[in-house]
Amino acid sequence: YKNAPPSIREFWLSTVAFADRPYLIYQDESLTYAETHQRVNAIAAWLMARGVAPGDRVAIAMRNYPEWMQIYWACVSIGVAAVGMNAWWTPEEMAYALDDSRPKVLFLDGERLARFRERPELAGTMTLVGVRTDGADAAVVPFADVIAHGGAMPDVKVDPDDDACIFYTSGTTGFPKGAQLTHRGCVANLFNMLYGTAAQALAVERATGVAPPADPPIPVTLLTTPLFHVTANNCGAYLTTAAGGALVHMYRWDAGDALKLIERHRVSSMSGVPIMSRELITHPDFATTDTSSLLALSGGGAQVPPDLVLKIDEQVATARPTTGYGMTETCGIITSVSGDFFVDRPDSAGPAMPVYEAKCVDDDGNTVPTGEVGELWVRGAAVIKGYINKPEATASTITDGWLHTGDIARMDEDGFIYIVDRKKDMVLRGGENVYCAEVEAVIYRHAAVAECCVFGVADERLGEEVGVAVVLRDGENLSDDDLRAHCASIAAKHKVPRYVWFMDQPLPRNASGKFLRRELRDQLSRELESA
Ligand code: ATP
Ligand code: MG
Repeated sequence: YKNAPPSIREFWLSTVAFADRPYLIYQDESLTYAETHQRVNAIAAWLMARGVAPGDRVAIAMRNYPEWMQIYWACVSIGVAAVGMNAWWTPEEMAYALDDSRPKVLFLDGERLARFRERPELAGTMTLVGVRTDGADAAVVPFADVIAHGGAMPDVKVDPDDDACIFYTSGTTGFPKGAQLTHRGCVANLFNMLYGTAAQALAVERATGVAPPADPPIPVTLLTTPLFHVTANNCGAYLTTAAGGALVHMYRWDAGDALKLIERHRVSSMSGVPIMSRELITHPDFATTDTSSLLALSGGGAQVPPDLVLKIDEQVATARPTTGYGMTETCGIITSVSGDFFVDRPDSAGPAMPVYEAKCVDDDGNTVPTGEVGELWVRGAAVIKGYINKPEATASTITDGWLHTGDIARMDEDGFIYIVDRKKDMVLRGGENVYCAEVEAVIYRHAAVAECCVFGVADERLGEEVGVAVVLRDGENLSDDDLRAHCASIAAKHKVPRYVWFMDQPLPRNASGKFLRRELRDQLSRELESA
């Protein structure tokens, strides 16, 4: 990718050309590219006037407000690493991450400020900037003062291998780790998305004779997941910004609100975890909402159940199903697939993107034969430098440039990758491996099921048994025997859940919207023991 900008600074500065196009939209507020650039310049100039220098860190602790990307672009443009603080963190967890990342300045919204104040020892030498925190104490610099500073973008040299941001992993398998995403990595991920998907569109055109629109509409993207993770930020926001499109911010996910926003802003693409697309297309208002602007409805961050791919294809006239498989550790996507390719292989996450080599390996690190499962390892320009303050985790996760994804996958002759499960989630029942995602895909084929989450339950005889927590759609009724019979009609006996819990609440999710599999397993296993 010869023409790639060397750093995100260059990328961001080039977007000033989008001038008066709308960019950041939140409720009734809207900022153009020109207005955003003015603010970003002011934030950057203010930070440097405060003594923040290239190589330092600045943290952002807030929900999806339009200030998020303003602060982010300001930091990366002056070689300062933006630390994405998870807005769901408790004061304890905030304290951990601040001690871990040591930012010079902390931007926070009202709710985060209140949590922060629960730990007075935290403030230290950090400067606090309050975003939408009218009436906060004098120790907090109002964001309006920062903007009022004005000024031009400081002239700073940024190296491609400098940290652009520290993003914490979702914490699905343990405590979140602070990943160091470099400028090179973030730019490489953007090019993966631009060229990897373009290459697929070309292949589809060759196969079907149907050309993509010559003049694609300017994208409008609904941000359903938090900007402190790569899905919304490095994928959604970057791709949209590269095309001069608009970002519609959601404070929190709600399918009904999403439908209203799609109609109001003519949203062209929505991405999030797969359950969000499912909630959208099964929402009572879906049929009466104008969703004709939607061109892509995607799910990533967790397995997309194949039935959902086919339902999106059938039920959303204009939108093609899309998925990306990726990790914080790869600044975004490793694989991606959409449209006809996806419908043909709904259980695949697509081929590896241009900057990656990929292989599936056995426990000794040897490549397994094509079609067989093994842990997926990838190598390429968008792999992170490492985890901050975790040399051991870094050394065991990245060997010789190969990132050990911790995911089990297989690859077919065409290079399509099928994510089977997380290594840590797999249920070991007797001598058999049972993959949670596979059992979930079977359960989702039952029309009464709204959501489900499969996990292993300790068993004296077999080591583990298969358990599942299920939420039924409103007004539906199902017995555990019915559900088992449904599973047994599709899957081998050892995959049929022995334990079925029907839940009357939505399943617990983390900030990314992923189900808290471990929490559910522990809670429900305890119930079993005490029963
Ligand atoms: P932690 O590493 O802290 O336990 P996490 O792995 O959930 O949390 P992320 O980096 O946000 O943190 O998520 C990456 C993981 O999400 C991948 O390793 C994979 O298990 C899962 N994942 C992402 N996209 C997909 C997809 N399209 N299909 C299946 N799994 C996916
Ligand atoms: Mg992970």
